Amino acid sequence: MNKLREIVDNTIQVLEHMKKSGITHVSVARATLDELGKAPVLVSTATVTSAEFIALAARVKACTKCSELAQCRKNVVFGVGNEHAELMFVGEAPGADEDEQGEPFVGRAGQLLTKIIEAMGYRRADVYIANVLKCRPPQNRTPLPDEMNNCRPYLLEQIDAIKPKVIVALGATAVRALLDVQLGITKMRGNWYTFHNTPIMPTFHPAYLLRNPPAKREVWEDMKTVLTKLGRPIPKTK
Ligand code: SF4
Repeated sequence: MNKLREIVDNTIQVLEHMKKSGITHVSVARATLDELGKAPVLVSTATVTSAEFIALAARVKACTKCSELAQCRKNVVFGVGNEHAELMFVGEAPGADEDEQGEPFVGRAGQLLTKIIEAMGYRRADVYIANVLKCRPPQNRTPLPDEMNNCRPYLLEQIDAIKPKVIVALGATAVRALLDVQLGITKMRGNWYTFHNTPIMPTFHPAYLLRNPPAKREVWEDMKTVLTKLGRPIPKTK
């Protein structure tokens, strides 16, 4: 067992022991968060992070369920943002930039997602952003069904911990991971679905918008519907 794995396992054991003892939150110093931010998995940058969430991030970081992905990845991309967010975005899988930096949606598509979030009146740090798959598929190929099955439970645990009021599913893969519906994203976008009592709004993935800029108009309509559901004002547009 290498040293890193040993540290992760020990951390999980300590956190699980604390949880059994009734401790549900641990204070994390800013300097520690800064160090964690440099580590291969990114955890929430909130000043207080639940022991459960840290333990989940540590488990995901050590995961090797998909042997091909575990061998190829540079970083596990757990998720980023506000662990108590009312709004959560779920995409497909990390790309090259995300794999390099250990943070979801940081490439060109990610920059567009950040613009959408800001156009809605949020800061990127206000929402939570994650992918169905936490490791990059080689050459950005579509995730295989086994990989989706392996990683989906982690996403469900993230959703259970964050308890967002609304989830925006970005693209067909995210929709497939969350909903048992056999419709294309074009037919589904703009309509509400429900997952474990949480409303889900499917919309186009930002990477699709880079290839089809006119579809930005439809995504903005979907985001206005989301803002209305959350009882937030709709900023003048864009
Ligand atoms: S994609 Fe998910 S299930 Fe597969 S190795 Fe990475 S973290 Fe584990």
